[in-house]
Amino acid sequence: MNNSVDNSPLPHKHIQGTNGVETGFDLAKSFFCLIDCSNDWKEHDKLCVSLLQAICQLSIKQIDRCGLGFDSWEIRDEISSLRARAWAGADSRDEVSDKVRKQWKALEDLWPKKVEIISSYTANSHISRFPVLEKIEGGGTGRPSRYLVNWTEQSDLVADASEINSRKSSITNGQIKYVCEDIVDAGFIARVFAKGYELSSWRRWIFILIFFIPMFLGYCYAILLIFHLKNLGSSNFAPYIGSISIFGIAITILWLSLRKLWFVPTRKITLAPWWMQSTDDDRLLELRKPPQYPERILVAVRYSGHCPICGGKVYAKSGEWEFYGRIVGRCDEAPVEHVFSFDHVTKIGRFLRPH
Ligand SMILES: [Zn+2]
Repeated sequence: MNNSVDNSPLPHKHIQGTNGVETGFDLAKSFFCLIDCSNDWKEHDKLCVSLLQAICQLSIKQIDRCGLGFDSWEIRDEISSLRARAWAGADSRDEVSDKVRKQWKALEDLWPKKVEIISSYTANSHISRFPVLEKIEGGGTGRPSRYLVNWTEQSDLVADASEINSRKSSITNGQIKYVCEDIVDAGFIARVFAKGYELSSWRRWIFILIFFIPMFLGYCYAILLIFHLKNLGSSNFAPYIGSISIFGIAITILWLSLRKLWFVPTRKITLAPWWMQSTDDDRLLELRKPPQYPERILVAVRYSGHCPICGGKVYAKSGEWEFYGRIVGRCDEAPVEHVFSFDHVTKIGRFLRPH
């Protein structure tokens, strides 16, 4: 079914083409796509995601009203129906209103983290627009606030993602598509990077101070120690063997802990260091910068896809010795055999074990 929105009451600034006539944008398909996408989020059972799905369902059922938004009580009823149990059923109108407002706020907080995965889903479904959360504030009694999802022309940022994704949608058999996932259950330091660490002005210097000054001081100390030992002559090494060993171990640990960060500026994406990893070793550090992204940040991410051979989940991980220095996609079901290349720009991979 193609629901052209020629007669839709969606605000004109959002839905009309340049000539004022919408060119057959399929609203129902777009809302279904957004529901599918949200079902894949790790937060899919949270109330704020149910709220999004409720708005999508209401929009599909009443496609000619979707641009006007839905009030808290319509949303409450739809959430109850989606979750198959009453939500805020016994509450007063004001209480329902408050609860929906609170969940809306949670959804707004979650939304920026989902831009990439939504963009991936819409591109794969050949949807040219991008959903945006909108609230129409009520005014006084009798005019409650209304909530809606509007499908806008794509912003520059999303357009870039879409261009990449449109290349992705032309994928042939045996290739894999990756999507960027949030880091879950991150420890304290990983959490800082999961939100994205801005590499500009003083933040950049803090990063350098914390991670590279200890290494620099270590090497200075090593050089001084070597000169000192050289001056002592070869017969007086014995008392220093203990401290040299400890120093060697300390430098090795420091190097193993920081070497991944060292490669970030040149490789743009690397495996995250061991102290940022989960047990799955699938966390990566990605350097993002303009013009593809609004600011220069270092962000901890995880890329996943579905194995075209067995349908298992594929995660971008270390290439180990066989693909030394590379990140590859490894299938959870057959991590040694189902191995794919990984490209964080196109987000496309190909099978690395041709028959
Ligand atoms: Zn597989």
